[in-house]
Amino acid sequence: MNKKTSRKKVKFIFVTGGVLSSLGKGIAAASIGSLLESCGLKVTLMKLDPYINIDPGTMNPFQHGEVYVTDDGAETDLDLGHYERFTQARMGRVNNITAGRIYDEVIQKERRGEYLGSTVQVIPHVTDAIKNHIHNISKGVDVVICEIGGTVGDIESLPFLEAIRQFRFDINPNNVIYIHLTLVPYMESSDELKTKPTQHSVQKLREIGVQPDILLCRTQKKLTKEIKDKIALFSNVQKDSVITAMDVKSIYQVPLSLHQEGLTKAILPKLGMAKKQPDLTNWETVNLNLDKPKGEVNIAVVGKYIGLKESYKSLVEALTHGGISNNLRVNINWVDAEDLEKNQSTGVLEKSDGILVPGGFGERGIEGKILAVNYARTQKIPFFGICLGMHCAVIEFARSVAKLKNANSAEFSPDSPYLIIDLMPDQDAKGKKGGTMRLGEYPCQIRKNTFAYKAYGNREVLERHRHRYEFNNEFRLQLEEAGLKISGFSPNGNLVEIVELDGHPWYLAGQFHPEFKSSPMKPHPLFRDFIANSYNNRVNNQRV
Ligand code: GLN
Repeated sequence: MNKKTSRKKVKFIFVTGGVLSSLGKGIAAASIGSLLESCGLKVTLMKLDPYINIDPGTMNPFQHGEVYVTDDGAETDLDLGHYERFTQARMGRVNNITAGRIYDEVIQKERRGEYLGSTVQVIPHVTDAIKNHIHNISKGVDVVICEIGGTVGDIESLPFLEAIRQFRFDINPNNVIYIHLTLVPYMESSDELKTKPTQHSVQKLREIGVQPDILLCRTQKKLTKEIKDKIALFSNVQKDSVITAMDVKSIYQVPLSLHQEGLTKAILPKLGMAKKQPDLTNWETVNLNLDKPKGEVNIAVVGKYIGLKESYKSLVEALTHGGISNNLRVNINWVDAEDLEKNQSTGVLEKSDGILVPGGFGERGIEGKILAVNYARTQKIPFFGICLGMHCAVIEFARSVAKLKNANSAEFSPDSPYLIIDLMPDQDAKGKKGGTMRLGEYPCQIRKNTFAYKAYGNREVLERHRHRYEFNNEFRLQLEEAGLKISGFSPNGNLVEIVELDGHPWYLAGQFHPEFKSSPMKPHPLFRDFIANSYNNRVNNQRV
């Protein structure tokens, strides 16, 4: 079979956004993926980001939100996290392309003389490169869902929109549809839903030659038939393709809500596929758990980026999943590590049933995080440390229990007499920022009779990493003798992956990021057990 015939039947859905950013385009794309999977189709997803960075790896989480890490070690946009949480599709480097990467590729090709002397231009060279990336992920799937970052009208996204415009005519046009997400705002003063922003946004899209097939209209009030008809008329789409995308309480209600509003029914025939009733029982169970919890649990998250919750996206979701598996509502109490450090007081942690110190970079707030670990350890409050959170845990243990005064990590205090956390001897990261991290999936062996083994029920697991610094083996024996339990390590035994403490209700810190592998249907076992133990702590303290 040649390339053309083997891929002839693959369908492509392009998801664009208008009016405003933050309307939930990523969740919409992920929900579309989930609905199609529930109809028995195999899907994959992709995000095209219009910025010039090669990847979001070096971007400040305050600006860009979380950097999501895939199994193959790509540092990607956080929407890929939604794709993995909502669908079975596994993401990798090929599923997130930025303008920077495209231009880099085109310019390198030009330098190698591969354009044979032609003038290199946005059309066709840049748009061809974009289209190639889209085709590349289509192998073995029924539907490719491709989300374009940014908002229609941005200068930056033009090459991407032009590429998806051309796409329909490169293949059978019946195999491509465009779904546009817009906003239909509600005006309180006149008690009206306003359609003009949607009309203008569709006009903008049509100016560049893309006629949307389906409109997802984000709104706080259900669109009436009249409103839908009006939008259909002005936007040149079919009436039943104007879909209400209601504000809902939880992102996990979105697939159900969009299906009820007729999205699945609108998509399938447009792609020449037979109508099917998706099986959404999984989503119904998840939502039942979220809607009717048997109780609640308060978790303190002690971090640096707490002003912007987007930077802890997967973490928040994984905590919610831990709640789903225990039928509990998880309330997050965001604690600013710098405040803890400044005030040297743990008062804000007192009402917490569990304490979590997440991953992070840089020195700010470190002493506050160490103080939080100390509190959790000494007060016997369930504690979960993730990556930097593990570094803080080991430092706290070294200082307080093993009596290694001023123990620290080489990341913050290279002159400390006891560099408990350090670069590995073979790591040469000095002066470099990109490309020096341990990234992606690595195996971790689990010791029996540990919290980790109890959670995983397995001697070997795979977890995702994103860090430079590691537990320093020079201090391993000394810390173990002082009572630190190493429950997870790399198969060659060289890297410490999980530490725990005996005689504590639940104290576990890992070098990896389990939050990247949790989903509402399959909550991560460590989050499940952390929430379960935090709830036990709540019950024991008679806070229920
Ligand atoms: N900053 C630490 C390191 O680079 C931890 C990173 C993290 O928490 N993801 O090793």
